[in-house]
Amino acid sequence: MSRWFHETLYGHWQQGFLVSRQLFRSSGGLQDIALFETPGFGRVLTLDGVIQVTTGDEFIYHEMLAHVPIYAHGAVRSVCVVGGGDGGMLREVLKHPSVERAVLVEIDGAVVDFCRQHMPSVSDGAFDDPRTEIVIADGIRFMAETDRRFDLIVVDSTDPIGPGEVLFTESFYRDCARCLTAEGIVVNQNGVPFLQGQEVTDTYRRRKPHFADVGFYVAAVPTYVGGFMALGWAANAARPRLETAETIRTRFDAAPVRTRYYTPELHKAAFALPRFVQDLIV
Ligand code: SAM
Repeated sequence: MSRWFHETLYGHWQQGFLVSRQLFRSSGGLQDIALFETPGFGRVLTLDGVIQVTTGDEFIYHEMLAHVPIYAHGAVRSVCVVGGGDGGMLREVLKHPSVERAVLVEIDGAVVDFCRQHMPSVSDGAFDDPRTEIVIADGIRFMAETDRRFDLIVVDSTDPIGPGEVLFTESFYRDCARCLTAEGIVVNQNGVPFLQGQEVTDTYRRRKPHFADVGFYVAAVPTYVGGFMALGWAANAARPRLETAETIRTRFDAAPVRTRYYTPELHKAAFALPRFVQDLIV
């Protein structure tokens, strides 16, 4: 008999997946973890009933949060991924030979262990890369206490509900700004503006006092439903966001990585925001 999974992110609207096989379910830890197989999206990981990763479309999200800031910066050596317990962000970041160190700060060690075992294609060996360091800690605490500096911070978090909520606060952004190098960049998943528009406005207002440059770019990820997803951008310098398509193309050709979504031309185009999204940035 077929069974459907319905995501519980929104009170007024749901997406459903036909489940061909329930693979794992664990409750009672920091977050409820579930994994199931679907005919259309491959393996689907949920935390507290909300879609985190599907093996079908995760490449779009991970490529856009990793390669856009790395090619915009031009010489990223040190990276901190906050959240990202599935390992997909580490995988994309570590494709760049310029990256010497990638620290993953994940609050829930069970997610890392679980994804390493049940979704190994997402991390694709990144957890065992000698450049990787895994820290099991709350990202807000890590960023407040560390004296390390990063060229790139990728906040690959859950939505601002539960443990991920603190990663959308002004104090976290202030600490991120302090932990960035002079031309450093922080990017994050900032929700789907059509359904979560207030997140864009809040992020803009909370970051503005602490960074020289604050903006957003977009990517369409099928299972983050509701249209374009907003990816947040904040930097201690204006230059990286303004780089021309030619410069990005030159950097890509000099140090290419294998992608399925990202291209240098798309990189530049992703910063062209729909009017209704621009109107949220106030
Ligand atoms: N791509 C996903 C999305 O947008 O739904 C995010 C995937 S990733 C699995 C999110 C991770 O953030 C989870 O493993 C969760 O445990 C972690 N996380 C949530 N709050 C955190 C916090 N305060 N500090 C560090 N990691 C956190």
